[in-house]
Amino acid sequence: MKKCYLGVDIGSISTKGVVIDENNKIIASEYLWTEGNPVGAVKRLVNILKKQVGSDYVLKGIGTTGSARKLIGLMLGTKAVKNEITAHAVGTTSLYPDVRTILEIGGQDSKIILLNHGIITDYAMNTLCAAGTGAFLSSQAKRIGVDINEFGSMALESNNPVKIAARCTVFAESDLIHKAQSGYEIKDIVAGLCKSIVLNYLNNVGKGKKIKGPIIFQGGVSKNKGVVKYFKEVLDEDIIVDENSHLLGALGIAIISKKYETDKIYSFDVNDIKFVTKGHECSGCSNNCEILKIFKNGEMIDAWGNRCSKGVNS
Ligand code: SF4
Repeated sequence: MKKCYLGVDIGSISTKGVVIDENNKIIASEYLWTEGNPVGAVKRLVNILKKQVGSDYVLKGIGTTGSARKLIGLMLGTKAVKNEITAHAVGTTSLYPDVRTILEIGGQDSKIILLNHGIITDYAMNTLCAAGTGAFLSSQAKRIGVDINEFGSMALESNNPVKIAARCTVFAESDLIHKAQSGYEIKDIVAGLCKSIVLNYLNNVGKGKKIKGPIIFQGGVSKNKGVVKYFKEVLDEDIIVDENSHLLGALGIAIISKKYETDKIYSFDVNDIKFVTKGHECSGCSNNCEILKIFKNGEMIDAWGNRCSKGVNS
């Protein structure tokens, strides 16, 4: 049997998974919505990947990254749990060893990673302002009645992007309504929004960073051709978007999981894992810690939020 490794990148909006072989080649992949239920999303994801992989492989490693990585790491029984910066850097350099800058815009956050000879030299993340994210683009597309899947190609039709104040969502939304009511063409407004995403990103996440090529753009928003066009224009550099640009975090953590390989064989059968979280407030002292306990198959396997050990048994 051939060996394979599963990487899961689980965020608040989307859940991504890849299975790789021993040569880091992707043999299965899936992207789906988290829908507020990370455990349910990972069960659906692993079921789909299991079918794609077939019966020729044995699962020798699992890694998790993304905002729910600890929870899902516990669920899947792995210690290969790393943050998104590390996972994206490893995934991207496995395909583009010379990359100097990774631009990433996801559903709810964005990040920049600078590298030199495959080593991370600097990075920044923005999780506070939604104005430069995929969720912002989707909500604005809905507001002006444009299908988000056509957003990018519509932006390419414009030679005259409307200037939109996109310092934060509140400013951007009111400016967008004003511009739409002033009779600007929709394609110019759409192009303006794509450009505002780029300027917002560079002025916030990319502030003070020395952006050098080769530049790889990834995350869900990298599929938007309008945003790619304005990154090229504003940075005056070529921008590479890999066909798997939305999966590179999952790829990275799958590769990392190989370092944790033991005799253990993992299973793709996750449906039967009974995995529940229960929250309560500890009354052991005036701190009243908010404690979240994690149960797997009825047994408590971890707890978070307690400032002392008393809270675990409270
Ligand atoms: S967990 Fe510890 S510190 Fe927190 S409320 Fe309970 S007893 Fe107090």
